[in-house]
Amino acid sequence: MRAPTAAPLLEVDNLRTHFTTPGGLVKSVDGVSFTVGHQETVCIVGESGSGKSITARSIMGLVRRPGRVVGGRMNFRLRDGSTVDLAAIPPDSATYRAIRGREIGMIFQEPMSALSPVHTIGSQIEEGIRLHLGFGARAARERAVDALEKVGFPGARQRLNTYPFQLSGGLRQRVCIAMALACEPSLLIADEPTTALDVTTQANILELLLRLQGELGMAIVFITHDLGVVAEIADRVVVMYLGQVMEAGPASGILGHPRHPYTRGLLRCVADIEGDGLLRAIPGIVPHPLARPPGCPFSTRCEEMMPGLCDTTAPELLAINGESRVRCHLWSSGQPHVTEGAVHG
Ligand code: SF4
Repeated sequence: MRAPTAAPLLEVDNLRTHFTTPGGLVKSVDGVSFTVGHQETVCIVGESGSGKSITARSIMGLVRRPGRVVGGRMNFRLRDGSTVDLAAIPPDSATYRAIRGREIGMIFQEPMSALSPVHTIGSQIEEGIRLHLGFGARAARERAVDALEKVGFPGARQRLNTYPFQLSGGLRQRVCIAMALACEPSLLIADEPTTALDVTTQANILELLLRLQGELGMAIVFITHDLGVVAEIADRVVVMYLGQVMEAGPASGILGHPRHPYTRGLLRCVADIEGDGLLRAIPGIVPHPLARPPGCPFSTRCEEMMPGLCDTTAPELLAINGESRVRCHLWSSGQPHVTEGAVHG
């Protein structure tokens, strides 16, 4: 992790990604805004169904039909200093394809979904290098070996002709990281890249990503449901629920003084913040996006819900203390409202 410079690398503003389904319009991402600084790590957190993965796919231009980015801007600064609005480029255009892989890399939760089972790992890494950097076969092979060695893949040169199915989950993920970083992008999007791995491998992969971030000077957008991971790597955090940002700000503030009841709920799942030795699950489940509650999206599960207000009126996302933002009626004046039995600090 490094201190970000002033001009952001990526500015996502009011992003909306919707899916037209037989049951109705699903607003998977519904007005999401955040920025990513150069060399910064921004973690997007939330339960399954929060819209965090669709946000990541929207940036990459990889939303599958019937989904579509229908509004907002995603201003991304290219290596040459110019800025491009990713929301305004057709996802299958040559321009977007040139940005994917060269300027923005992505790794996924399940490495096999990103790897072809019928091609060797060497040929898959070399393909991107030839495409994006214009290298010839021999130079691409050397760069692939270099990329595999950078991610700690043992015996890289001798194992270029290995197929993905011959590797463990941890080694497959290292191949995916090598593929994503072979062209040294300035932004890496990591969508739950350690979730499918055992705890030891998970720790090794996180350590590897942080080391490579320092070596390559890249920013990372890390998608996760695990606040333990967030505590280890994040500079800033964006908390999402039902397609909207509930809270955002510097990691120290979000983890040390969470303001939104949903953020506090996520933290109680992994840490004993009540001081009674217990971890607590958030009651209930994320509503189906077609059954979005009126008013605050979290109102059906919130222990501090104020009837007549939270279940009728949607809270705005408000700026608090400069860099932080929170979407909750408890903070609607910029200061915590203290309700019976609840103190917010
Ligand atoms: Fe809970 Fe109301 Fe805040 Fe929503 S607006 S998080 S229901 S207190």
